[in-house]
Amino acid sequence: MTRRTPPRPVDVERLFPEVVRFKKDAVRLHPRAGDPTYRESSIGGPLLWPAREPWPVCAEHGGAPMVAVAQIYRGDVPDVVAFPEGCDVLQVLWCPRRHHDGPWVVPRIHWRAAADVRQVLAAPPLPAQRRENYVPRPCVVHPERVTEYPSWDLDDTIWDALEGRFAQVEKETGWDYQYHLSTAPGTKLGGFPGWGQDPQPASCTRCGRPMEHLLTFESAEGDAESARAWTPVEDREAHVEHAGMRFGDMGGVYLFECLTCPDRPNTHRVDCA
Ligand SMILES: [Zn+2]
Ligand SMILES: [Zn+2]
Repeated sequence: MTRRTPPRPVDVERLFPEVVRFKKDAVRLHPRAGDPTYRESSIGGPLLWPAREPWPVCAEHGGAPMVAVAQIYRGDVPDVVAFPEGCDVLQVLWCPRRHHDGPWVVPRIHWRAAADVRQVLAAPPLPAQRRENYVPRPCVVHPERVTEYPSWDLDDTIWDALEGRFAQVEKETGWDYQYHLSTAPGTKLGGFPGWGQDPQPASCTRCGRPMEHLLTFESAEGDAESARAWTPVEDREAHVEHAGMRFGDMGGVYLFECLTCPDRPNTHRVDCA
């Protein structure tokens, strides 16, 4: 089923023309508990993984197998994510335990060409130990493209200049720029990271340039406040069950990559509220 986020309840670009030049497209994934196959994009579903390729393991935990977290086919996120040449599948895995070089999970990104996978690995190994919070429930996804404007990532000077107008609009309409008008909550690709706290921008350690946001995983697809503006029309009356992951209190995991270096170095950030 399609998921349709309602349009922003006020005209953001007319009220705050200063943010227009920073706008970006994102794809909300709208994960919902289901039974995805390896031929589909999913959260926590089976991966199109070649039978002859070793399954990723965690070095810190003595070669414990990682778990599949996300698989995204290029056709589901056209033009929003720059897939490397010749690749049409993005796969994310992690070891579902705490780690020393990151407070929680340490994601691993794989790009591949679906046509190169002849025999698919039927039953990936499972880790003996895992924190259930870090293992997504299998979900089908309902990709939807939305426009975002920076919130936490908005330049301080511009934020200061707009703050009075943000407050005025909230007073008059009940809509808050940060919660309701700028960035979409929940699992998404592209656009802006769904920070719950001060942003932690990532720069490439090789070329020094700023990395691009690739993917946000959050502890919830939204909260009561953001839901007022961002709940898809189809979900308003429905009880929806999604991936059910939880990072810290109500934090997120944010993946970044360098689009300049040819081998696409990537990194991640986490926050806990
Ligand atoms: Zn590990
Ligand atoms: Zn780089």
